[in-house]
Amino acid sequence: MSGDVLTGGCLCGAIRYRAEGPVINVNHCHCEMCRRASGAIAATWAAVPVAGFSTSGATPAEFRASDFATRSFCAKCGSTLFWKRDGAAKIDLSVGTIDDAGAIGAGRHDWVEGRLGGFVLDAHLPAFRADGTKA
Ligand SMILES: [Zn+2]
Ligand SMILES: [Zn+2]
Repeated sequence: MSGDVLTGGCLCGAIRYRAEGPVINVNHCHCEMCRRASGAIAATWAAVPVAGFSTSGATPAEFRASDFATRSFCAKCGSTLFWKRDGAAKIDLSVGTIDDAGAIGAGRHDWVEGRLGGFVLDAHLPAFRADGTKA
């Protein structure tokens, strides 16, 4: 990572993105929507400012699983890329698609009531329920 600039892209390389940080927050989301969209038992997101965020290459496909947010993915390879709440000043990047993903630390767990039994929560990370209360 050079400075606060993050770059990333999908599995097939059709979509690339660039974000100027700083990373606002990082979370493991255990909600069913993130689980099904990512195909993983939890989705890990890094939120960055919408200002300074851009994509290049193919246009990301979009899906609205809820009435307040849009999920973006690559229509060619299926990679989960972004999650954005309508009108928000931040956009969540799927951490696994960040080039230097290893430099992104996890900050918290969300929607922990949706957590699968096999997923052991890191005891050092704060955990929250869907309604935002501390678990
Ligand atoms: Zn792709
Ligand atoms: Zn989620």
